[in-house]
Amino acid sequence: MNNKSNNRTSLHWRRTKIIATLGPATTNTVMIEKLINAGVNVFRLNMSHGNHEQHTESFQMVRDTATRMGQHIAILMDLCGPKIRTGKFKSGSITLNNNATVQISCNKKTGDKGLIASQYTNLYKDVKKGERILLDDGNLELRVQKINGPDIACKIIYGGILKDNKGINLPDSKISVSSFTAKDKKDAKLAMQLGADFVALSFVRDAKDIKALQNYMKRNGSPIPIIAKIEKPEAITNIDSILNASYGIMVARGDLGIELPAEQVPLIQKDLICKARAMNRPVIVATQMLESMIESSRPTRAEVGDVANAALLGTDAVMLSAETAVGKFPVGAVNMMDRVLREIEVHQWDNNTFADNNAKQNITANLSIRKAVSHAVTSLAQDLKLQGIVVPTRSGSTAKVLAANRPTAPLLGVSPYSHVCRILALHWGVIPIEAEEKETHDWKKLSTSISTQYKLTKTGNTVLLVSGFNDDPGLSEPVIKILKV
Ligand code: PEP
Repeated sequence: MNNKSNNRTSLHWRRTKIIATLGPATTNTVMIEKLINAGVNVFRLNMSHGNHEQHTESFQMVRDTATRMGQHIAILMDLCGPKIRTGKFKSGSITLNNNATVQISCNKKTGDKGLIASQYTNLYKDVKKGERILLDDGNLELRVQKINGPDIACKIIYGGILKDNKGINLPDSKISVSSFTAKDKKDAKLAMQLGADFVALSFVRDAKDIKALQNYMKRNGSPIPIIAKIEKPEAITNIDSILNASYGIMVARGDLGIELPAEQVPLIQKDLICKARAMNRPVIVATQMLESMIESSRPTRAEVGDVANAALLGTDAVMLSAETAVGKFPVGAVNMMDRVLREIEVHQWDNNTFADNNAKQNITANLSIRKAVSHAVTSLAQDLKLQGIVVPTRSGSTAKVLAANRPTAPLLGVSPYSHVCRILALHWGVIPIEAEEKETHDWKKLSTSISTQYKLTKTGNTVLLVSGFNDDPGLSEPVIKILKV
């Protein structure tokens, strides 16, 4: 959360966090510094592209730049999961004509006119006659006519040009390949070696996929918090157990909008944000947020509306993909996102509506102690017109749970651990502050110094301090202190 002031109101800190994907357009220290200054809180390294050497270099660049700038910036390494792809073509591409027939072969390495090679060699076992096969982000559509051993004969429903290594989606089929692949294992090992703050797992179908990655990390090093990418219909069905098993979720709208009818995605996004918050899990809205800014310096008005809507729904973070990885205006895209989010948040601040979409949570009977205290803190922040809530938090738990309730005042999450500060960088409304353990014991002194440093309130005014939540809700002994500074 960067601290640009907005000259129309007192809102100083942006609440919704920004994630930027690094790629050829941005992997250098000058760009990384510019992106952090523009407001990036988390960088994503996409393991679908590049090799370990390149990712190690990018990782180090982010860590070094953030340290030099004195900023807590997290790194999320995104494991590609069982993304099914076509192979290469002899001439780089082929043309598929509507109503013609094309063969997909599972035992050929290279495609040619009328022939597509599949990198996934079991594809012919997973599809049935009459099912759809979508290619290139769903732009091209085939229908299975006949399966002859490893060859699948398909009718071309929507044709076009198909280039090398394009994605294959099977919205009607049950895929037998595991969500946690051999490549993911190697990539997870690298993430642990480098000390990534989050790993994301693609094409999660149920909690077992998350547990497989978790167990693998436990056996091979120190586990990293897992973000489940929700992009399969099965994940929507199993969302409660997935949320339970994972640290947070990503609404991965790119593949989700291919696997399901695109018109279903907006309400699914709304529901997932609500569910994640009810379970104190951070949620990220991803893909095509400012897509036109890959080529153009200005977004479409519809894209601006999309970013604004995600903020209004209360997402923790919004993500840029190709816009910052390969786009022509990576810094412009982050600046634009920052401005849209601030515009919405100023309105929410002025109208006290940050916590508005808590409806589902408020009607739940028998709230846990942590949730009940969070509600009390949200009310106090509103009633006392607080400018900040000081949260000494060793593990980050107190700040995370309070953030899920979206209080009006920013949460100053103070931890002695830099890795906890980086994790907090993803959470809505949390300003991560690193302080030595001993400085966090005298709460009055801590609140006074933070209030001064972060210009939260004038001398003699009130500051709220909250502490004592535990990762295990049963062990929580929360304290709310109202302090005069
Ligand atoms: C998505 O499909 O929306 C997504 C975020 O995944 P990726 O960018 O890895 O395709």
